[in-house]
Amino acid sequence: MTNSFEKIDILSLFFKELEEEIIKIGEPKFRAKQIYSWINKGKWSDEMANIPVPLRKKLDEHFLWTLPAVEKKLVSQIDGTVKYLFKLYDGEYIESVFMRYEHGNTLCISSQVGCRMGCKFCASTLLGRVRNLLPSEMLGQIIMAEKDTGERISNVVMMGIGEPLDNYDNTIKFLRLVSDENGLNIGLRHISVSTCGLVDRINDLSNEALPITLSISLHAYDNDTRSKIMPINNKYPIEALLDACQKYFEKTSRRISFEYTLISGQNDTEEGATKLAKILKKYIKSPCHVNLIPLNEVKETGLGTSKNVNNFKNKLMSLGVNATVRRRLGSDINASCGQLRRQAKEERE
Ligand code: SAH
Repeated sequence: MTNSFEKIDILSLFFKELEEEIIKIGEPKFRAKQIYSWINKGKWSDEMANIPVPLRKKLDEHFLWTLPAVEKKLVSQIDGTVKYLFKLYDGEYIESVFMRYEHGNTLCISSQVGCRMGCKFCASTLLGRVRNLLPSEMLGQIIMAEKDTGERISNVVMMGIGEPLDNYDNTIKFLRLVSDENGLNIGLRHISVSTCGLVDRINDLSNEALPITLSISLHAYDNDTRSKIMPINNKYPIEALLDACQKYFEKTSRRISFEYTLISGQNDTEEGATKLAKILKKYIKSPCHVNLIPLNEVKETGLGTSKNVNNFKNKLMSLGVNATVRRRLGSDINASCGQLRRQAKEERE
């Protein structure tokens, strides 16, 4: 992958590709392993202790090396959640959120600068999509968060800014890179990819044989309700989406989880919960899990959070659908994605 300077984006290379590049610049193959290990620790050139100085210079000439820079960092006084606003090499901003759970540290990463999916409740999409992130920029968020906190990240969720399946090739490359044992070595079983429901891409994903967890942002129980809040539903109706989910499960044996953001007056009645249970049972033949998310209010959307969260959950449970309410981490730092980037953009413009 090259950029306008015709340099190769080194952190987006597979180990084998790096080996080939190292041979091309006249260096022995074993150097690739050393260099691969350094870059995955976020170290470059003069920080590469076992790399001779002339080779460090060659690396500078041949490769593009940038990591996201911490532009702003908010730390929750309640639970230690850290929210990062990162600045990319071209001045664009993205966000990541570092969360501590009993089962390990989780980083929520962005996949695009902005988003073009247009979900009515979401802050990330208000200004549209600027560009896709490179695989290196997805890895870079993890590397920087590990550097900054001094802690290992064992789980990744692709639930930050952007629609990962709208940046399909880079997302797939990122997933293969991040799980490389010579690199960050984060197991695919510890990675969740969240999508608003690009059915064709879900079908493609089922052929990749990646044991990730797929999360579907469902947020509604029928087409009328869903199309009002998620324009993507006009392209892929809810039946087509759930059908793709069932096929995904049949092909991969990986269970799918459903996200459901509860929005006052839109999708949060008990009658709605009954319809949701019914449609899930009709299409999904594996045990499924619904993750209920109380809406995080975004001023510009005019939508309000639901007061009916527990009733909705209890109704689903009574109908045999496993549901949990997502614990809200970092509530004092507004840890939901998209809002810091917008503030930063407004201040800059
Ligand atoms: N584009 C992907 C991933 C990004 S959003 C997707 O749509 O799944 C991660 C999750 O947060 C999605 O379920 C999304 O619908 C939800 N979300 C977005 N804005 C929200 C808000 N203001 N309050 C609660 N959840 C929100």
